[in-house]
Parts: sequence; C-alpha cells; structure tokens
Amino acid sequence: MTPGRPVMPGADKVRRTLTDQGSESPSSAPAGEAPAPRTGSEVAAYGATSAQSGLVPLTIERRALKPDDVEIDIEFCGLCHSDVHATRGEWGERPWPLVPGHEIVGRVRRVGDEVRSFSVDDRVGVGCMVDSCGECENCLDGVEQFCDRGNVLTYGSADPRNGGEATQGGYAQRIVVTEKFVLRVPETLDPAAAAPLLCAGITTYSPLRYFGVEPGERVGVVGLGGLGHLAVKLAKAMGAEVTVFTRSAEKGDAARELGADDVVVTSDPTALEAARRTLDLVIDTVAAPHDVNAYLRTLRLDGALFQLSLPSGTMAPVDPGLLIRRRLSYAGSLIGGIAETQEMLEFCAEHGVAADIELVAADELNEAYDRMVAGDVKYRFVLDATTLASTGAGSAQAEEGEE
Ligand SMILES: [Zn+2]
Ligand SMILES: [Zn+2]
Repeated sequence: MTPGRPVMPGADKVRRTLTDQGSESPSSAPAGEAPAPRTGSEVAAYGATSAQSGLVPLTIERRALKPDDVEIDIEFCGLCHSDVHATRGEWGERPWPLVPGHEIVGRVRRVGDEVRSFSVDDRVGVGCMVDSCGECENCLDGVEQFCDRGNVLTYGSADPRNGGEATQGGYAQRIVVTEKFVLRVPETLDPAAAAPLLCAGITTYSPLRYFGVEPGERVGVVGLGGLGHLAVKLAKAMGAEVTVFTRSAEKGDAARELGADDVVVTSDPTALEAARRTLDLVIDTVAAPHDVNAYLRTLRLDGALFQLSLPSGTMAPVDPGLLIRRRLSYAGSLIGGIAETQEMLEFCAEHGVAADIELVAADELNEAYDRMVAGDVKYRFVLDATTLASTGAGSAQAEEGEE
C-alpha cells in the first residue's frame, strides 16, 4: 500500500489503483489487535513526489480508525520552514511522496469507540508529533518531543500504527491521529491564526516557560519571522519587556506594532554595544549561520540564550569566557510536550495571542514557499484546506464502512 501517489487524470483510475492493491484491505489490523472498526479513506492532499517536484496535488490514504483514534476534518494548516526543507530534500532523502504540514487545526469528524476526550465537531489541533513510545522516562514525564525511542513525527516518520508506512501531514483534507496527540483548540481562538501556534507557538512558548519568565523581566528576540513574531507576543503576554534584534531598520516599526518595547538594529554596532548586559533571556530564532556571541553579550548575570532553529551552516564557536563570567547558559529547545502545548493554547486564548497570517489556497503553495524563502511573509502562511477539494485530488474516496 502506498502512502500517497500523484493524482491520476480521472477519478476512475484512482479508484482502480485502490482495487489493484488486492485483498490486503487498508482496514486489516495488526495481529493481536481488535479489527479496525472502519475502513481507511482516501483524501485530497498536496505534497512532493521528489526533491525537485515542488508541491503537486496527490491522493493519500488515511488509516482506518483504531479504537483510540480521532479523525479530523482539516480546516487550516500553517506553512513552516521545516516543510520547505523537507519537501525540497534539504534535510536528506525522504520517503516520497511526502505531504508536509504540522500546524493543523480542524474539527473532529469521527472518533474510535474508546475515545473519551473528544466528540464529533470539537475544534482540535495537531502539531509536530502524532505518537511516541509512551513508556520511556521522557514520555512518562510528558516531554514526548524527547522520546528516547524516537517519536512519530506528523509527516515523514514510519508509523507503527500503520504498518510502518510513512506519516503524511496536514496539507490534506483529513488526518487520523491517536487521541493522546490531539489538542483541544479553544473556540475563542481564530482557527486559521491558531494553526501556527502548533509549531511556531509552542517552539517559542516552551523556552519562555522553561526559563520561567516573570513580569518585568527582559526578553530579547532575535529574528522577526514566524517564530520571532510569536515569541514577541508570548513574552509580552507573560509581562516581559521585549527587545527585538533585527538586521533591517524597516522591521523596527513592525516589531513595535507587535508589542516590542525596544528594537536593536544589528547592522549598527553601536546599537548592539548599547544593549550589553540588559537582558535576562534571549530567544534566538535565526536559522542562518550567525554569531551568537553578539547576543550572549546582551545578557545579564544568570541569563540564558535559547537557540531554536537548526543553523543551515557552520557557526562561529561560542566564547566560553562569556558564559563563565556571567554564569550564562547557552541552550536549545525543541517544540514542547503535548501537555505543555495544550497549556500554551489555553494561555493564548486567555491572552488573545495568535499568529499574524496570510491565507493561501492549495494552488498557491509553491509561490508561498518561494516567498517564505525570500522572507516575504508577515508572518506565517496558512493553507485554507477547503481549497484542496477543488483541485480534483481525492475525488474518488474509498467507501466508508459503517460499524
Ligand atoms: Zn514547524
Ligand atoms: Zn518515549
């Protein structure tokens, strides 16, 4: 069974491909488990068929519902830089085709028999992970993003719940996810603007919380993109004074509009010098190689710098003298656990925090990727998943068996 394939010209051919898979019905359950209560289904999606293909319409198959599974009608999915790297093969070869997307918001369509936390029509979300071992020390501590055995990412991971098939992400009409990895999205949040909270939001919220930011503390944010703009909003909502570091003076006004108290234009060495020893915490969202020592110098005693993006090249080494002389920490952070992600969503609802977004249709995804790479977005693109239906992909859906 292929996890996805290019849309054939005409729904009849798509259906024939399904039949050609023979007696291995998609609803067959692994040995030892109760039979899946319903059959799987085909849905329209957008994804890459190779590192060079760009994003094209696809039909993918979602697994049959297991008793603890939730099937979600996807309304919106944020476009993350990881999606660009993955679909363009910049992080190595992938199982193709690959449907990206891990900032998913939608409504519950169906639930398995044992699902107790969610009901049909609930507004829900899915972030970067869809499963983990559930048994290791880190999973038991609720930090599933650090699962010792490796968690199952929302796309491009081998899925033990689906015979090892690669997971496929949120640029699709629907997704099936185990209840434990489904998040409740408060109805008071705008669903499109909430989608980027599932990756960009939790990625910046988690280090702010881990550091324990308190009202009046001073937080620096390096870079004003998808992550950075949410870091500014979240830190402000926690009561911090926020300084944004940006290369271009024009971004200064945009930073202030987001709530930043101060802006340091990093191309001006005197401005950086003036910011020395002024901050308690720096959230560094820049993925391009850069000199973190410049930002470590802005920290006061016991300050910390959290690096959130994986640099795309070699960086200048950290000067240990800077760390030693002010007991600084140079740290990293990776999304957040499921419980913390739920906490973040509730925090955002309470404080009115969501992403600034530009909605795109499915056939605008490639252009949106180019604009993301060029830094031409304020601040996050979000796919309107209802536009997938009009692409012709997934028009032949498998029969949905009733229990
Ligand atoms: Zn992401
Ligand atoms: Zn684990």
